[in-house]
Amino acid sequence: MTKEKILIVGGGFAGAKAALDLSEDERFDITLLSDKKIFTYFPTLYHVATGGDKSNASIPLNSLTESKNIKLHFGKAVKLDRQSKRIITAEGESYSYDSLILALGVVTNYFNIKGLQELSFGVKSIEDVEKLKAHLHEQLISEHKPDLNYVIVGGGPTGIELAGALPEYLRQVMLQHKIENRSVHIDLVESAPRLLARMPRDTSRMVQRRLRRLGVKLYLGKRVQGETANDLMVDNKLIQSHTVIWTAGTANNPFFSENGFTLSSNHKVATDIYLQAEPNIFVIGDNANTPYSGMAQTAVHDGEYLAENLKRRTSGKKLKSYMAKAPITIIPVGEGWAAVNYGVFRTYGMLGWVLRQAADAVAFHDYEPWAKAGRQWLTTNNVEESCPVCAARQAAI
Ligand SMILES: Cc1cc2nc3c(=O)[nH]c(=O)nc-3n(C[C@H](O)[C@H](O)[C@H](O)COP(=O)(O)OP(=O)(O)OC[C@H]3O[C@@H](n4cnc5c(N)ncnc54)[C@H](O)[C@@H]3O)c2cc1C
Repeated sequence: MTKEKILIVGGGFAGAKAALDLSEDERFDITLLSDKKIFTYFPTLYHVATGGDKSNASIPLNSLTESKNIKLHFGKAVKLDRQSKRIITAEGESYSYDSLILALGVVTNYFNIKGLQELSFGVKSIEDVEKLKAHLHEQLISEHKPDLNYVIVGGGPTGIELAGALPEYLRQVMLQHKIENRSVHIDLVESAPRLLARMPRDTSRMVQRRLRRLGVKLYLGKRVQGETANDLMVDNKLIQSHTVIWTAGTANNPFFSENGFTLSSNHKVATDIYLQAEPNIFVIGDNANTPYSGMAQTAVHDGEYLAENLKRRTSGKKLKSYMAKAPITIIPVGEGWAAVNYGVFRTYGMLGWVLRQAADAVAFHDYEPWAKAGRQWLTTNNVEESCPVCAARQAAI
């Protein structure tokens, strides 16, 4: 039997899910190509930045694919050769396909604001959050007493999660270093008049109140104009800070514009009702112009849907049209509190926090058997500090 060659590019939420689900079917010859050796679990990156163990937000791809019918390769896809049905990588390798699945995720967008790309910190990768964590330490314990003004830009879930966790983390580090008397300022800047502008107003109100209680100062309806080594310019006023964290923008992966794909007005890839952008080229996850694109749950759903449809196609069955699935949003804001939104259902506080812990466990299980997913989930409780003082004290707790 000749197997259908499926090439999946991108080992994130959508690509890894499609690969794992397809790997159960012997009729496919599956190659997963990714530019990183790990699967990044973005929802807990904020936790890693504020003292958590990096393994909580990263799973080696070879551990996800071991003993599966998946050929795993690493490389950065740069070119699509439609004629010869091949993907070419920056490293000079080329991979052929019968069907191609693209799931490359998004990149950070700095909107050409001066200084941001060079000077701000990010929360988009393990490397980003490790760098931020090291900086937070350095600032706090430096004998030169630099400013302790932390400015987070972006009032979406990522900015809010980080702003919620930061006060307690900084307090802990100061406690460990016996420097509790230093005064810390945490600002959250958002250009829309309220946080979570795309969510219901009552959720924005509750989250804003919670952040203010935690001591975070909110700058709403304010635009960032530029960053220098010492300041951030916001609405023509300077905020002195050496720690600006940019969470305010993403853009579609440049691979698509560079390779002549048809893009929608929001720059995501236009697809048909089967998530097919061109004959036998499928685009899923954050890259596709679907109603809830931009969320992990959507990427998982897309991967599952496409794997099922490809199996149906190979069996000669009627294809299913793509149906978007409304996601549940759960936004943790500081230890023991989260805002939950699902249709008309809302809850705020400890129940939300518990639901979020459960959602993470279920999300790990989307990729791993329960025993492994459980061990992965337990890493939530691990702390990881390169600072010997913090590490020693935390080990003693
Ligand atoms: C900090 C943060 C927190 C988030 N929290 C949540 C949350 O709590 N809940 C939620 O639902 N969503 C959350 N999201 C959004 C969610 O993570 C994304 O929607 C999801 O990751 C999209 O999946 P994807 O497969 O499309 O892309 P990704 O998961 O980003 O995967 C893309 C993969 O492709 C690889 N890649 C990129 N370019 C190339 C290339 N040229 N060649 C080869 N490989 C390439 C990347 O390295 C990556 O492995 C969060 C996002 C961020 C940044």
